[in-house]
Amino acid sequence: MQDRTITPSTQPLHEPTTPQLIDPLGDGISSVELVRVSGSDVDVVNAARVSFGKTVTELSEQDKKLIAYLMEHDHTSPFEHNQLSFRIKAPIFVARQWMRHRMNSYNEISYRYVKAPLEFYQPKQWRFQDAVNRQASYGAFQDSEVDQTYQHALQTAVQAYETLLAKGVCRELARGVLPVCTYTQFMFTCNLHSLTHFLRLRLHKGAQWEIQQYAKGLLELTLPSFPVSLAAWRNKHGQR
Ligand SMILES: Cc1cc2nc3c(=O)[nH]c(=O)nc-3n(C[C@H](O)[C@H](O)[C@H](O)COP(=O)(O)OP(=O)(O)OC[C@H]3O[C@@H](n4cnc5c(N)ncnc54)[C@H](O)[C@@H]3O)c2cc1C
Repeated sequence: MQDRTITPSTQPLHEPTTPQLIDPLGDGISSVELVRVSGSDVDVVNAARVSFGKTVTELSEQDKKLIAYLMEHDHTSPFEHNQLSFRIKAPIFVARQWMRHRMNSYNEISYRYVKAPLEFYQPKQWRFQDAVNRQASYGAFQDSEVDQTYQHALQTAVQAYETLLAKGVCRELARGVLPVCTYTQFMFTCNLHSLTHFLRLRLHKGAQWEIQQYAKGLLELTLPSFPVSLAAWRNKHGQR
C-alpha cells in the first residue's frame, strides 16, 4: 500500500475549551454561544497568498499589513476561508431580522416538534416611538402600567396556548397564539466576510437595540480568533 503523508493543517478546527457564552439582553435567558471556530488570521493571509504557493504558520508584520490592505480595498474573498458556528437564543422578532442575512447557514428549533418553553423577552425599560424615522425608537422610561399590560398579554397567550394543547390541538397550530417576543433557538454558521457584513448592519445605531446587543456579543466572541482582521475592519468602519 502506498504511503501517504498527510500534512496537518496549521490551523486545525478547534473547539473552545470553555463554553463561550454571552447573555446579550441580560435577562438570564438570551444567549450567544460560540460553539466552533475553524481558521484564524493566518488563514486569511494564506488564502490571499495562495498564488505564490507559500503558506505561513505565524503572522509577520508584513502579513498584518496585507490583512489591513485586503480589508481596506474590499478584497473580501480571503476572509471567507474560515467558519464560525454560534448557538443563539433570541426573541422571535430578533431571529426574523437575523435570518434576513442569507449568506449564512441556519437551523432552528421547531415548535411543531417540541412544546415551546414559554420563555419571553420582557424589556427592562421602554423606548418611545421616533416621530420622524418610522423604524426608530429613542429614550428609555419605566411605566408600571405598561409593564402590567405586557405581562397580562403574555399570561393570556400562555393560557391560550396551554388550553389549545390540552384540547388536543397540534403544536404547529397552537403556537399561533404565541407572541413574537417568545424565545427561539437556532444555529448560525458564517464566515468572517459574512459576519462582518452582518455586524456592519446590525451594530449600526439604525438597527433595533435588541439585535445590536446580539451583534456586540458576536463581535466579542469572534475577536480572540481574528484579532488582526477585526482590528482592520474596525479601522475601516470605525470603532464599534
Ligand atoms: C436597519 C435595518 C432595517 C431593515 N428594515 C427592513 C424592512 O423594513 N423590511 C425588510 O424586508 N427588510 C429590512 N431589512 C433587511 C435588509 O433589507 C436585508 O435583507 C438584510 O439587512 C440582509 O442584508 P443583505 O441582503 O446585505 O445580507 P445577506 O442576505 O447576508 O447577503 C449578503 C450580500 O450577498 C448579496 N446577495 C444576497 N442575496 C442576493 C440576491 N438575491 N441578489 C443579489 N445579491 C444578493 C448582496 O450583496 C448582499 O449584501 C433591514 C435591515 C436593516 C439593517
